[in-house]
Amino acid sequence: MDPAIGDIPRADILIRSGQIIDVGPHTADRETGDVQTIDGAGTVTLPGFVDTHWHLWNSLLRGTVGDRPGTDYFTVKRALAPHFELEDFYWAARLGLAEAAGGGITTVHNFDHNVRGPQDADANIQAHLDSGLRGRFSYGPPDSSAPESTNDLDDLARLRDRWPGDRLDGRLDFGVALRGPYRTPPEVYEREWATARSLGLPITMHCDRCLREEGCRSCGLVRLEELGLLGEDVQVVHAVHAGEEDIRALARTRTRVSLSPMTEMRTMGFPLLTELLEAGVQVSLSLDTLAMPTSADILGHLRTIISVEIARTGSGTVTPRRLLQLATIDGARDLGLHDSIGSITPGKRADIVILRSSDINLVPSGDPVEALVYTGQIDNIDTVIADGRILKRHGRLTLADDEENPVAVAAARRDALLGRATAAGDWHWPACTTANPSQTISGPATADEGSPR
Ligand SMILES: [Zn+2]
Repeated sequence: MDPAIGDIPRADILIRSGQIIDVGPHTADRETGDVQTIDGAGTVTLPGFVDTHWHLWNSLLRGTVGDRPGTDYFTVKRALAPHFELEDFYWAARLGLAEAAGGGITTVHNFDHNVRGPQDADANIQAHLDSGLRGRFSYGPPDSSAPESTNDLDDLARLRDRWPGDRLDGRLDFGVALRGPYRTPPEVYEREWATARSLGLPITMHCDRCLREEGCRSCGLVRLEELGLLGEDVQVVHAVHAGEEDIRALARTRTRVSLSPMTEMRTMGFPLLTELLEAGVQVSLSLDTLAMPTSADILGHLRTIISVEIARTGSGTVTPRRLLQLATIDGARDLGLHDSIGSITPGKRADIVILRSSDINLVPSGDPVEALVYTGQIDNIDTVIADGRILKRHGRLTLADDEENPVAVAAARRDALLGRATAAGDWHWPACTTANPSQTISGPATADEGSPR
């Protein structure tokens, strides 16, 4: 992913103290002393994937959201969100981040749109640090909060004091998740934007529906530009209804766009990947939520995306290599991290994925980039390194001896969550009436409910 280095058929990657020191043939021969060696024969090595929009808090909802009536994302979220305890937020984030690590995603932007208080924010930040991954925590309002209520702006300043750089290990920074002009009145969004910018915090917002009352499309991106609300410090998520003028506004203002094609195609429409790239918009990719449900099988997602783009546009703009760039260096660029991650470049931090190219689905071999995107899968990921720490080895997540398994704990927390919701009369498993599937499968969420915001 570094054009100055290119693809190297046989190379060593020398890492010291979490930093890539050298890349090229036989660099490891120079290193003496206590060196750990990972044999990369029969593998392909990539920079770690970067996810730029993920609601980690609702990872516990996977398994309860589905296609049967009464199990759509919004119904389940409304029923279960009030029963979350503080520990649930921590373990939901750990579950999502563990799945990320297993899938080779070494950076996650946690778009937290259910921060109910300072403790929730702290739990998410602690989970991120404990996971070993890199990322951003973007502070949002509580789920279903009134349009007139602003984000807890005082707590944004507190975050800086409570979590100084040395506590964040150089792996986490902060942003704000705002609802924007579509969902909040001017006195709210103007204050939120001004505060975020005065604190130097990047802004993220969903743009998933049409701003009909303004007579424009896709949450009024042209109008947002006129209001001075777009820019390099702003990430717009989805924008699936953007018209040509909206896309030009994004390009002019160098606003970032995060696309989550797997959830967009289920509830919103086709992501406009080709159009955005051809207009020169800075695009990156994201999972959105595990609840929808989806999974961290990035290569599977890329394969779907390229097939859809070719079928939809007939354009050759989206190629396998372009997709790998979107999932790595362009994600890093979205988060302002392209000088430190996103490619295997000496001087950058060691966020690295090693895939077995000798697995059955990648044999016989050809162009490795085409092979990964067209036939690669999550099972091929042998080793994942984040900031020099090995988080996955020989296909399994590494855990310290005294470390609780996030998968097991999160599953237990989810069951306890359902127990509390059931006792309160807010939850019951829908009847499984598979005798007549036509009555049990509902369509996508209504236009009113839109995306998994
Ligand atoms: Zn979202």
